[in-house]
Amino acid sequence: MGLPCVTLMRIGMLATLVALAAGWTSQPAARPAVAARPRAAASLVRASASAGDMAVSRTVDCIVVGGGISGASLAHNLHRSGVDVLLTESRDYVGGNVISRQADGFTWEEGPNSFATQPSIVRISHELGIQDQLVFADESLPPWVNHNGKLHPLPKGKGGKGAAGQLELVFGSNGVLKFGLLGDLLSWPGKIRAGIGALVGHPPPPEGKEETIREWVSRTLGEEVFLRCIDPFVSGVYAGDPATLGMKASLGKIARIEAYAYAIEWNKFGAIFYGGLARQVELAKERKADPPDPSWVEFEYGNPGSYRNGLSTLPHAIAAELGQPHGSAPNPDSRVRLEWRLTNLQAAPGGGFSATYATPAGEQTVRARSVVSTAPAHALKGVLDEVLPGAKALTDTLRAEIGREGIYYPPVAAVTVAYPKSAFRDVELDNGFGPLRDLPGFGSLNPRSEGVRTLGTLWSSSLFPGRCPPDYNVLLNYIGGSRDTTIGRMSEAEILVEVDRGCRQVLLKPDAPQPKLLGCKVWPSAIPQYELGHAPIIAALEEAEARVDGLWVCGNYRTGVAFPDCVTYGYEHAKLVVDYLQKQQPAGAEPEQLVRAA
Ligand SMILES: Cc1cc2nc3c(=O)[nH]c(=O)nc-3n(C[C@H](O)[C@H](O)[C@H](O)COP(=O)(O)OP(=O)(O)OC[C@H]3O[C@@H](n4cnc5c(N)ncnc54)[C@H](O)[C@@H]3O)c2cc1C
Repeated sequence: MGLPCVTLMRIGMLATLVALAAGWTSQPAARPAVAARPRAAASLVRASASAGDMAVSRTVDCIVVGGGISGASLAHNLHRSGVDVLLTESRDYVGGNVISRQADGFTWEEGPNSFATQPSIVRISHELGIQDQLVFADESLPPWVNHNGKLHPLPKGKGGKGAAGQLELVFGSNGVLKFGLLGDLLSWPGKIRAGIGALVGHPPPPEGKEETIREWVSRTLGEEVFLRCIDPFVSGVYAGDPATLGMKASLGKIARIEAYAYAIEWNKFGAIFYGGLARQVELAKERKADPPDPSWVEFEYGNPGSYRNGLSTLPHAIAAELGQPHGSAPNPDSRVRLEWRLTNLQAAPGGGFSATYATPAGEQTVRARSVVSTAPAHALKGVLDEVLPGAKALTDTLRAEIGREGIYYPPVAAVTVAYPKSAFRDVELDNGFGPLRDLPGFGSLNPRSEGVRTLGTLWSSSLFPGRCPPDYNVLLNYIGGSRDTTIGRMSEAEILVEVDRGCRQVLLKPDAPQPKLLGCKVWPSAIPQYELGHAPIIAALEEAEARVDGLWVCGNYRTGVAFPDCVTYGYEHAKLVVDYLQKQQPAGAEPEQLVRAA
């Protein structure tokens, strides 16, 4: 096969990898779904909870611990199913690390920037009556990689994921053909190595050893693809270290492509391009078999999306649905308890659970038939010891190989700055994207080799409408992560200096004015890392959990870190809880306690 063709095919594979990695799409392929279990019958005594301002004087069907997007989505689904649910959150708002801000004509995010659109997001928006607030980015806007002092666009199609979109992705003005023939992000030896790995074959996976992301990509497509394309995405998406992140645990969908490749009989050496094609065909069939509801707004799978006023629109709508609108005074009749931190969970005499909380009104205890935790792993230390000692695996498991104890959450700062458009370099970007000052893209990513401390800069005002006055550009910078943990100990002023320096290295004129700082939010424990040894920790948790009916210990460390994963989790897990409660319903139960079918 001629080189241009090899290059083309290689880039196709690369584009698939990059698109999957970039899109914050759900990841662990073989991610253990939280399994339904046979339940022992329990007799529940309808005891009163302890007294107090906001105490709940009945046994609730289900307590959801943690009001981030996972817990809020779950509570929404349980509530819609008729479950008497109580959403308990230690902070004073619903949303967890989803925080959107607005001031002086600017809109920005302090946590996640956007979601890769999935049906669960459109569905929940429809159910909450906020689908008219959904906004989607222009799908053709590429991510750019900063390399050798230049921005390089990664291939991106236009016109959707259908046949026309695929043709555009290959032959279009920013398609894979052009990237392969004229792009200079990869050297020719790097392109040839990747082409061989994609189309001819590569060394087989090592036996009896869990591979890291770095090892997997280097083995299949070569070191250069890893360093220039995948490493910046892993830094940008996980704020992680690809040399400690497990490939199967972190990017399971991509890892699975190799299994698809080897499953093709003639593909003896596992060339992964063909595995990618097989996966695309399967995906198309899956989507056809389960099409979106016609009453939902139209969307493209994986397209970056948000809401007009930011991502917080979703958790705020759920809080309002549950009777506690954002910013309103605590409502004792609502199904939400803010500033309630779970400190202890016990099995209650007679069945169910007794949950103790530290609250502004002192200690409160609530009885529940079932409990689902969506709090981060590190927040559970000591909390579940009495009822589920096996949950200690989440915090106490020693992983000598990578020097960790339990599941690691590195610090990350999300820093949003605005510069006047006139401050941006007078550069015409490749492939007809026009002047840099218009920021035609998703954002710019910095491979660790480029000497820029910022992991990635998202071009927020280019993605969604109305994010700033027309003469400004808004940039959301993520800095820190597993390989730069000192960020967690730096002052806001020090972090801003680093972020501004990074913007000047990549985007700005030397005489650009100081930025307008919109937000600097340091997350001391940002994103759980699916590092080597993750699967055994989750297996130990599952084993322990299977012995305690009506209790689930979940969260983004288990069912995926991407925002859409958390929303999808809310739908999937609600079915298990409803099923459990229906089976537990004692004969002669009062009507208000009955759960409607999910
Ligand atoms: C900086 C950053 C950027 C990101 N960017 C993106 C992005 O662009 N796209 C994307 O798809 N994803 C992104 N993510 C990932 C995604 O946002 C998260 O995985 C998701 O929001 C996690 O939601 P959650 O509900 O599982 O967890 P959390 O948001 O952590 O919610 C857990 C909640 O539990 C509460 N809690 C803790 N302990 C207790 C207790 N004892 N009792 C009661 N409550 C308790 C916490 O206060 C918290 O509100 C990003 C994450 C971060 C941090």
